[in-house]
Amino acid sequence: MVDLKGQYTKIKAAVDAGIANVIDNTAFINGPEVKMFQAELEQFLNVKHVIPCANGTDALQIAMMALNLQPGDEVITANFTYVATAEVIALLKLTPVLVECDPNTFTIDPAAIEAAITPRTKAIVPVHLYGQCADMDKILAIAKKHNLYVIEDTAQAIGSVYTHANGTTAQAGTMGTIGCTSFFPSKNLGCYGDGGALYTNDDKLAARIRMIANHGQSVQYIHDEVGVNSRLDSIQAAILRVKLRELNNYAKARNVAASYYDKAFAKNPKIKTPVRASNSTHVFHQYTLQLKGVERNALREYLATKDIPSMIYYPLPLHHQKAYANATYSDEQFPITLDLCANVISLPMHTEMTELELKYITDEVLNFCK
Ligand SMILES: *Cc1c(COP(=O)(O)O)cnc(C)c1O
Repeated sequence: MVDLKGQYTKIKAAVDAGIANVIDNTAFINGPEVKMFQAELEQFLNVKHVIPCANGTDALQIAMMALNLQPGDEVITANFTYVATAEVIALLKLTPVLVECDPNTFTIDPAAIEAAITPRTKAIVPVHLYGQCADMDKILAIAKKHNLYVIEDTAQAIGSVYTHANGTTAQAGTMGTIGCTSFFPSKNLGCYGDGGALYTNDDKLAARIRMIANHGQSVQYIHDEVGVNSRLDSIQAAILRVKLRELNNYAKARNVAASYYDKAFAKNPKIKTPVRASNSTHVFHQYTLQLKGVERNALREYLATKDIPSMIYYPLPLHHQKAYANATYSDEQFPITLDLCANVISLPMHTEMTELELKYITDEVLNFCK
């Protein structure tokens, strides 16, 4: 699905030098690379504060802790997402409220958010799924009207740019109260291990996030609150500094591959290619097709015999997962999510795709979907 080796080969000299430098200096934790990466990412995102942490799931958890959400508070998020989003809500004894997604972009449906609001609702967590932003103007307006926090899960969409109705633009993750991202190796800005970050423009909130991520201490050995230990290590920061410089080029390469796929599948009625949101760029974390009248498993098996990997993101809606099942949900609420879980398939998508590979993959998919 990804070619991290091919990508590494092209940046090997810089990455190896960055890693060697950290080892030479032995500042493995909170070394200068972490601060430099933080500053460089702040500049890239045009956001006041980036707070690095250990992974994207931690970022979401720390965000909810920093906003002082209390057990029983309701947090609205997408049913069609990676489990981490709902997991941290449940872990903190908050109540996840899962809602339907948009049939075209597959991101959270603002109308469904509004319909799910109760007096206990405290926050909305839009997920910028597959690499493009959710409908943020509408979500921000709903949040403002009901006085709710917005925590953007931008683990799949770092570098995606949203255009507001008034024409101004913003990077994914910088529009809500807090943005959360992941540097998991296969993400668009991936390190060589685990990593994550939170973003915010709010000075007080940034200080609080830093404190919580650092054992609840703002002065060493003085703990005012229960926190966590969540750090980005210096070696990962050194790698991320190199890759951040390439991030826009990586997005371009992914878009070139996506356009090739789009064109190849355009005339096949059994294959619906990804719909681009009108107000967001797409960084194609995933290239995901929606099949119509195709035996998905048979297609996957066929592709596997041709050495073509494929993945299903995601095979189950969260409300069908044992851990998140809840008598208040019914399948009737989620026709779109259920259809997607049954019919989506993601094809290889990365920064190193060649035309030869793309031709081979599209030929075989079309061969099966005749
Ligand atoms: C990857 C991902 C996360 C979690 O990130 P980790 O770094 O793996 O903890 C959270 N939300 C979404 C939507 C993701 O894709």
